[in-house]
Amino acid sequence: MPMVAIDLLFGLLVLATGVALGWWLRTREPTPTPSDPAGEARQAREVLGRLHELATRVASDVGAHTDRVEAINEQLHSSSGAKHEAVLLAVTELIEANSRMQGQLGSAKQKLKEQAAQVEKHAEAARTDALTGLANRRAFDEEMSRRLERWEKLGETFSIVMFDVDHFKRFNDTYGHQAGDAVLRMMGELLRNTARKGDLVVRYGGEEFAMILSRTPVAEAKHCAERARRHIAERAFHCDGQELRVTASLGVAQIFQGETVPQLIDRADAALYASKAAGRDCVHWHDGTTPHLLQSADSIPASEPEAPPTAPPASAPPPTELPAKQEPNAESRPRAAADQSDREDPVAGKTVVGQITMSNRTEFCIILARRLAEWRRGGANPSVIMIRIDHFQRIVEEYGERAGCLVLKATAHFLSAAIRDMDMVAHYDTATFVVLFPGTWMANVVGISERLREAIAKCHLPTERGPMHFTVSIGGANAMESDDTKRMLERAETSLGIAFEAGGNCSMFHNGARSETVEAAMERAANCA
Ligand code: GH3
Ligand code: MG
Ligand code: MG
Repeated sequence: MPMVAIDLLFGLLVLATGVALGWWLRTREPTPTPSDPAGEARQAREVLGRLHELATRVASDVGAHTDRVEAINEQLHSSSGAKHEAVLLAVTELIEANSRMQGQLGSAKQKLKEQAAQVEKHAEAARTDALTGLANRRAFDEEMSRRLERWEKLGETFSIVMFDVDHFKRFNDTYGHQAGDAVLRMMGELLRNTARKGDLVVRYGGEEFAMILSRTPVAEAKHCAERARRHIAERAFHCDGQELRVTASLGVAQIFQGETVPQLIDRADAALYASKAAGRDCVHWHDGTTPHLLQSADSIPASEPEAPPTAPPASAPPPTELPAKQEPNAESRPRAAADQSDREDPVAGKTVVGQITMSNRTEFCIILARRLAEWRRGGANPSVIMIRIDHFQRIVEEYGERAGCLVLKATAHFLSAAIRDMDMVAHYDTATFVVLFPGTWMANVVGISERLREAIAKCHLPTERGPMHFTVSIGGANAMESDDTKRMLERAETSLGIAFEAGGNCSMFHNGARSETVEAAMERAANCA
């Protein structure tokens, strides 16, 4: 029994030393952090001191126990041949000694458990920002290393979002440091609530925050960033009877092949800096070469559910109510861009259609070429649809330029409501838009196209000459072996032409050999599936 007790004790000591040593080593990592390193070292010394004390006490208890057992043993030897009672007494004493020892070991085990919990608590505190309760920079660094490892070993991608509160120095100077602290706490709470399960939100330092979005490509990260930006800008808090608001500038980047953590952070920082330069209160994302302003066509309608709908809902807001106030994400553009006229192109590769900023034809072709290349390397099969407003010229002639603008704006609005995070919409030419679905079943593409076409056909626009309704024709194609960008777009355009020739308000899809109707395309897609 004493041997069992000593084994158990040894096990407990090893466990305690392991926990303490692990914590000690982790707390020695040379990472800058707002927590207090001197305090942590002191706490570590205290915990180790207490463990040492406990170990000494238990060791002396074991020593006393061993002495007691040996004495009983002696007694048994010396009383050989003696009375039965003497043996019985020795055995009783032995049982008592063992049970005392068990009690002492039990309480030592409990104490070690408490110490381990305390060590865990300290470790947690070392990774937590005291002001906001968020994870701190140390936790960020550790998680980034873990993410990078998973990316390199398993190809599990991730993105990061960097936040910097705008004009925060001015805010502190105006409302005081306490109000500034309250804002940072509010930011912490807000970002925690905005983040999805599995995202890590950290206070990176000062008035800077960051999010690590695991298993999230940049297309999705942009939306998370935009949602957070909007929540920050919309959130009011009260201080001395005043309603105060702050905004933040954001930068987004996704990890690339062969990239290191500092390189990824540098790109997200460059995107954040571009947001500052663009007037603040906006999001830029980095494509590996340059930052891009997050386009309203990329982002989510103001009243969005967490995931944007795949098609305009039957009750999509009629574009009669579109102007200014209900424009999806008009507020998502930086003030500098919002102040510019509709036709100005604030960022290369972009165009503005009816106050909605979207990719232009050139950028669309670049992205489509990339998707085709990815598909050939084993990625998903991309599809495109081309949407043209029927008789656009006639509408302008009959109802005037303003009606033409309204029709474009309404179509752009329907399109941005219909596409999902990963899809891309672009302005192709005057009355034509194009959507890229990077990897969607053809049946779904046909379904989305039809719902879009039907929703547009039901909408009535207010004009000086009374309500006007308009229709669109749609031509679609998914990638074929022989396609390059030009050929794929030509096939979609051919189908679009046939849909228009058939009377307009119609969709056709190119199967590689010819254009086919919605029904035929659906049947083919079902057979392929
Ligand atoms: P910009 O829009 O360019 O980011 O301007 P800014 O004023 O936010 O940036 P700057 O780097 O000049 O100032 C950052 C300010 O953040 C200065 C500093 O006093 C404040 N700050 C940093 N940490 C804290 C904090 O813990 N509490 C408070 N109240 N203020 C903080
Ligand atoms: Mg800063
Ligand atoms: Mg700042």
